[in-house]
Amino acid sequence: MPELPEVETIRCGLEPLVVGHRIVGVALRNRALRWPVPEKLQEILNGQVIHAVERRAKYLMLRCQSGTLILHLGMSGSLRILPKQKNPTKHDHVDIVFSNGRCLRYNDPRRFGALLWTSSDPVQHELLKDLGPEPLTASLTGDYLYERSRRRIVSIKQFIMDSRIVSGVGNIYANEALFTAGIQPVKAAGRISRKRYQRLAAAIKKTLRTAIAAGGTTLRDFQDESGNPGYFQMKLKVYGRGGEPCLVCGRRIRHVRHGQRSTYYCPRCQH
Ligand SMILES: [Zn+2]
Repeated sequence: MPELPEVETIRCGLEPLVVGHRIVGVALRNRALRWPVPEKLQEILNGQVIHAVERRAKYLMLRCQSGTLILHLGMSGSLRILPKQKNPTKHDHVDIVFSNGRCLRYNDPRRFGALLWTSSDPVQHELLKDLGPEPLTASLTGDYLYERSRRRIVSIKQFIMDSRIVSGVGNIYANEALFTAGIQPVKAAGRISRKRYQRLAAAIKKTLRTAIAAGGTTLRDFQDESGNPGYFQMKLKVYGRGGEPCLVCGRRIRHVRHGQRSTYYCPRCQH
């Protein structure tokens, strides 16, 4: 599932390929995504120029003259820039065709993604308005996390994965950030000190930035139509390493299911 760094990598790859280009057509092969794609998308987008490609949490926002196309990749969505003549395959649901003869093609086998249009401020859209601070901006601080967590008995891992608290910290990066900050993932959020939250806020930013930097190396794949949407692996310290030695102390990394998600931690380094 694409997480925030993957979406940011896609945004960076997409930006130079679509900004400034005029939309001359839309091919809508399947409207049944998580929410129905607007029936009149063709009518709405025709003739519009994309001004910017922005991101809020895991939503991409393609800003046009009269509004914004909001795009979410769901579980299995991907985007490619292709010559418009290239024959679509089974799960290629939407093409946005540009005047330069290329198209932005949306593929999504599981169809949990979304393609929605808004003519008002996209950040105030129903799906986006309640999202917590962007983790890579100054609005995410240790003090903020500390204040929000008081009297909360939910685990720290579930707390930072709650998009109303911080937007876009998925399971892999929550595991990694908690390892970097030395915090046990199942510890109650309300029982963690301000100082440790400051370490955690820094660890979340560092983890996501490292992943985005690693993703930059796959941008070429995204551009050369290989079908690779730009997902990547950074070197993970705990996630997926159950039973292997901790990179810091050598103890075996533990793997537990917590809140129905795979949780990995070092029993010595994290407490
Ligand atoms: Zn350790």
